Amino acid sequence: MSTYDVAIIGSGPGGYVAAIRCAQLGMKTAIIEKYNTLGGTCLNVGCIPSKALLDSSHHYEEAIKHFEAHGIEIPGEIKLNFKKMIERKADVVDQNTKGIEFLMNKNKVDVFTGVGAFTDATHIEITGEKTQTIEAKNIIIATGSKPSTLPFIKIDKERIITSTEALTLAEVPKHMIVIGGGVIGLELGQVYRRLGAEVSVVEYMDRIIPTMDSAQSRELTKVMKKQGVKFYVSHKVSAVERKKNEVTVTATNKKDEEVTFTGDYCLVSVGRRPFTDGLKAENAGVKITERGMIDVNEHLQTNVPNIYAIGDVVRGAMLAHKAEEEGVFVAETIAGQKPHIDYNLIPGVVYTWPEVASVGKTEEQLKDDGVAYKTGQFPMRALGRSRASGDTDGFVKILSDATTDEVLGVHMVGARVADLISEAVVAMEFRASAEDIARISHAHPTYAEAVKEAALAATADRALHI
Ligand code: FAD
Ligand code: NAD
Repeated sequence: MSTYDVAIIGSGPGGYVAAIRCAQLGMKTAIIEKYNTLGGTCLNVGCIPSKALLDSSHHYEEAIKHFEAHGIEIPGEIKLNFKKMIERKADVVDQNTKGIEFLMNKNKVDVFTGVGAFTDATHIEITGEKTQTIEAKNIIIATGSKPSTLPFIKIDKERIITSTEALTLAEVPKHMIVIGGGVIGLELGQVYRRLGAEVSVVEYMDRIIPTMDSAQSRELTKVMKKQGVKFYVSHKVSAVERKKNEVTVTATNKKDEEVTFTGDYCLVSVGRRPFTDGLKAENAGVKITERGMIDVNEHLQTNVPNIYAIGDVVRGAMLAHKAEEEGVFVAETIAGQKPHIDYNLIPGVVYTWPEVASVGKTEEQLKDDGVAYKTGQFPMRALGRSRASGDTDGFVKILSDATTDEVLGVHMVGARVADLISEAVVAMEFRASAEDIARISHAHPTYAEAVKEAALAATADRALHI
């Protein structure tokens, strides 16, 4: 039987990053993945394929709607080759998952293909083409998450689908009804809207992306409505039925009226649930919470001292970069180091266009916490760079402490803000004040100038270009 210092179950961004860091720290490391490709949800059916489709559909929309304004005329009709778009996405996924295979080889991590199940706290039985058992001093559970649904919905994977199927459809829907106006619903809803589908988003809360700053919800709603997406907020879905190729969604609105939506596809995007099926955690005595999460302490250690858990299967944001930080954290903890993660500074991004990005506290959270704060906001439309590219929607909003001026939260909507948010994360990691950011030179013309201007506005209402 092979024996390891660390065995990791699951090869998503949590698991594979943990494996690399364990190997870098000199530990003999194994990783177990039940699918034939590495990379987990993120690389196979999550971050990467969704961004490939967002990018392709963005190019298509630019070509059909915006090229002309730039003086680019394409003779003849611009046609969508959806099959090719999906094939390109598959190719992008392939390149990325092969990249993880390369990294496992490079770092001398042993890869086992099969379902990993605990037989006790130090042994894992792997059932794949053959069944084998390995022993490990430390085990990291990184089994991720799966789409969740509502109790009355039967996902048939054909017409009533999750994000996984939405990434590999054979046709562009005529009318896609999206249940849930969160990240997945908006990203994939926008993809299909751009490709010509009618898209109706039915959201339970009174606004889309309800956990982000409400100014971001308002701006994104406005822009996506202009793009033709229909929003039905404060709607409680009560039934989803399919008859042949038709799906009917029934919901109740704020006035308690019943509303029905009929389309050819229904995307259910109401969140994800931690995944531990087949893990047999009970054989090792590992505690799972009522909500199906692996219970961990501040060291990401389970109730069994040599077993840790990271990523979507534990509490916190279900984000790839959060899982990665936790992978490094646990590897370094096992190696005897004292790592640290500031969960308040894990940024959140929605990759629609315009993009939406946030870090730190929202204005609603600061109000709830009774914190006195100042606000500085700067619109993208006032930037030379935005006018040059034609990306004038959005803003940067900085919230800083009313007394100390320390930056407490940064919220953005606009072109490339997924990249701009890193400046805010760095600033907050170093506990910068809004004035610190305001006094730093930002290259001209860039979208990043909006960060400086918002910081100037927060410092003493002294933005320069508005
Ligand atoms: P996962 O990536 O879910 O990996 C877990 C792995 O464990 C899987 O490969 C699974 O097969 C394997 N596994 C489970 N049980 C066993 C077992 N018993 N034995 C062997 N293997 C097992 N996040 C972002 O930060 N940015 C994005 O842009 C983004 N876009 C997304 C888009 C979509 C459509 C979706 C669905 C998610 C997106 N996410 C995004 C979320 C991101 O994918 C997850 O947060 C991330 O993948 C979590 O990583 P993980 O390592 O915890 O688990
Ligand atoms: P989500 O939590 O982002 O959004 C779910 C939405 O569904 C919420 O707005 C919620 O209010 C709504 N909802 C819940 N129950 C409902 C009901 N009964 N009727 C109508 N609406 C209802 O979840 P998601 O969009 O499914 O994404 C799942 C996870 O994947 C998220 O945690 C997210 O972090 C991750 N993800 C991240 C990215 C990214 O980082 N860009 C992209 C995709 C997914």
